[in-house]
Amino acid sequence: MADSDRIVLSGKAPLPRSLWAATARPPIPALPLAGETEADVVVVGGGFTGLSAALHLAERGLKLVLLEAAEPGWGASGRNGGQVIAGLKAMPAEIIAKHGRERGKQIVDLVGGTADFLFDLIRRHGIECDAERKGWVQAAHSDKALAAVAGRVADWQAHDAPVRMVDRAEMARILGTGDYVGGMVDARDGALNPLGYARGLADAAQRLGARIHGGSPVTRVTQRGAGWQVTTAAGSVTAPKVLIGTNAYTTDFWPGLAASVVPVSSFQVATAPLTDNLRRTILPEGHVLSDTRRLLRYFRLDAQGRMVMGGRGTFKNDIDSGDTARLRRWVGELFPALSDIAYEYHWSGNVAVNLDHWPHLHALAPGVWAALGYNGRGVAMASRMGALLADLAAGVPAAKIAFPITPLRPIPFHGMRRAVLPVMTAWYGVLDRLQ
Ligand SMILES: Cc1cc2nc3c(=O)[nH]c(=O)nc-3n(C[C@H](O)[C@H](O)[C@H](O)COP(=O)(O)OP(=O)(O)OC[C@H]3O[C@@H](n4cnc5c(N)ncnc54)[C@H](O)[C@@H]3O)c2cc1C
Repeated sequence: MADSDRIVLSGKAPLPRSLWAATARPPIPALPLAGETEADVVVVGGGFTGLSAALHLAERGLKLVLLEAAEPGWGASGRNGGQVIAGLKAMPAEIIAKHGRERGKQIVDLVGGTADFLFDLIRRHGIECDAERKGWVQAAHSDKALAAVAGRVADWQAHDAPVRMVDRAEMARILGTGDYVGGMVDARDGALNPLGYARGLADAAQRLGARIHGGSPVTRVTQRGAGWQVTTAAGSVTAPKVLIGTNAYTTDFWPGLAASVVPVSSFQVATAPLTDNLRRTILPEGHVLSDTRRLLRYFRLDAQGRMVMGGRGTFKNDIDSGDTARLRRWVGELFPALSDIAYEYHWSGNVAVNLDHWPHLHALAPGVWAALGYNGRGVAMASRMGALLADLAAGVPAAKIAFPITPLRPIPFHGMRRAVLPVMTAWYGVLDRLQ
């Protein structure tokens, strides 16, 4: 059994002591499932995927039960960097080359519209989560990386996306550090408090009648007549449709699903709030940023002006002193004025990585669908995927879904990831330093 299974199956794991846990709105009441019940749809997993699915099902008036192992937002959704980024790592030209002009364009429009979709959802439901739309910067750490960013900008501009190149001088001004050679700004994007957003989605779904149970790890999904029985330690739900959104924390309740992604940890630290004076020079226009390194760094200010710095780790569940020291060093290198600043929080979470770096929507069996594998870019995309899952459960034909539905493909040698990941991480670090 993997570590993530042990944590999730206990059903009692507390939220990490993160910045978001300290500053998000309170959780909704979500008692464990007890006894047997029925619904139109069972949703497994209470992150953005499952919560968005639940909210969109509830908006359609469907009876649904959401089963979350710990509490809504406990997984990556309540721990991430809160950077809302439209698009995927795959560029529009690649998507069109792979899927053809017409189908490819539908997919490009869908993935390019995920940030619009998320901010609209927040507005429609009045979700209070410090959402802001000041743009995402992709900062290039080398000339070679800058050329690749320029290609991305041209590609998205051909689809009328509001993206533009930024030179070294402008980059230094909008970031407050001269460390990057240039990059792009994507005006579709922004920031939010991710745990606040997850809890807001849960609250909106619950208000519309969704039955949301925390502390309810699913242990089995079995066929029952024309439908499915979804079982936890203390009860079960029978329904014709099942939607799964368990991403990097997927346990063994569905054969092959956990092995279709590799959980990779990502770490963050948050400083004390910056003084007004520092805020005038560090990210003065409110951008959020990720850079182009293979082991990428990402940072932003939160609503109270704390610097939140994150980076990829290896296969570990918990952040240790070496990880925090590395993140603090990056803060000091990028922003010497913050070298002596106090730190208030550090935490980690698991990103679901797969071989094609593409989020997958799977039809697992008649009436059962799953969406996972966001490869660290899922705030906007998981929100959109949840709505696609809801469409499928509501009877929208697969041919009308503007995203590919792919067969489930377990990753070969998945069991060897513990041995392979640290080696890959070290190698990527070497490549980043060489460029
Ligand atoms: C540290 C970090 C930083 C990130 N930063 C960003 C960012 O800035 N921008 C961005 O776009 N993306 C970011 N991501 C990625 C993004 O957070 C994820 O792609 C997204 O949250 C995935 O949502 P999800 O609902 O699919 O999965 P999760 O939020 O992980 O939710 C899955 C849920 O399923 C539950 N579960 C698992 N097994 C069971 C079971 N058997 N029964 C019941 N429930 C179960 C878990 O408890 C968990 O709550 C980051 C991720 C991490 C970890």
